Amino acid sequence: MKYFGAHVSASGGVENAPRNAHEIGATAFALFTKNQRQWAAPALTAAQINDFKQACEEYGYAPHQILPHDSYLINLGHPEKEGLEKSRASFIHEMERCQALGLDRLNFHPGSHLKKISEEESLKLVAESINIALDKTQGVTAVIENTAGQGSNLGYAFWHLAYIIDRVEDKSRVGVCLDTCHSFAAGYDLSTEEGCEKVFAEFEREVGFKYLKGMHLNDAMKAVGSRVDRHSPMGEGFLGITPFRYIARDARFDGIPLILETPDEARWAEEIAALKEFANG
Ligand SMILES: [Zn+2]
Ligand SMILES: [Zn+2]
Repeated sequence: MKYFGAHVSASGGVENAPRNAHEIGATAFALFTKNQRQWAAPALTAAQINDFKQACEEYGYAPHQILPHDSYLINLGHPEKEGLEKSRASFIHEMERCQALGLDRLNFHPGSHLKKISEEESLKLVAESINIALDKTQGVTAVIENTAGQGSNLGYAFWHLAYIIDRVEDKSRVGVCLDTCHSFAAGYDLSTEEGCEKVFAEFEREVGFKYLKGMHLNDAMKAVGSRVDRHSPMGEGFLGITPFRYIARDARFDGIPLILETPDEARWAEEIAALKEFANG
């Protein structure tokens, strides 16, 4: 079973996200459980939690169809003590929110070394951050997203993901989310079927599909290897429609949330319909 959706708005409260997803024909969705540009957030109320769970049940979204995303401010590989501690506390808080909502995974970007420490040193901090968070929470898997590798962002190479996973103690609660645009920007050419075969075989070898807990389906505005994170509507960027058809038809991507973060929200319903057709064709 394929689950397609988009990163929908939770404005007015998390309890509104399931309906927003339902309205665009989504069978999966992503959301922020708090304002993604702020550190602090009011606690979720019992009523909100209840309304969220009820809406998920009403519209048919189980936890494995939902991919919450954490705040952009968090840097779990932060080279400095203060920034690292603030990030770790905030990440635990985000994991707790997911746990309270009955969700089973939290998607995040690994972090940045800010050119102050090596990639390896920063990746080790990310792994340690995950270990701390897993220790303090239950039932939520930490889902590391691969990145375009802009600036000093980690996670642009599959070996970065493997390096972190290797150092996580509870392997049952760590996973990855592959973003098609980020992969392409980082140099993994998914624009052809042969490219998809090759890149996903490399992913299987270096990381493993057993860790794949979600995908972000975005076309790429910049060329392969650009290291620039700019999404395009599906089929209109450098990736074209091929990788989206490939993913929709490949059983290795069954059973996980496949999430559009394409720039034009007005087209999500149409993009989801196209993905569903690929899957059924
Ligand atoms: Zn993404
Ligand atoms: Zn992106």
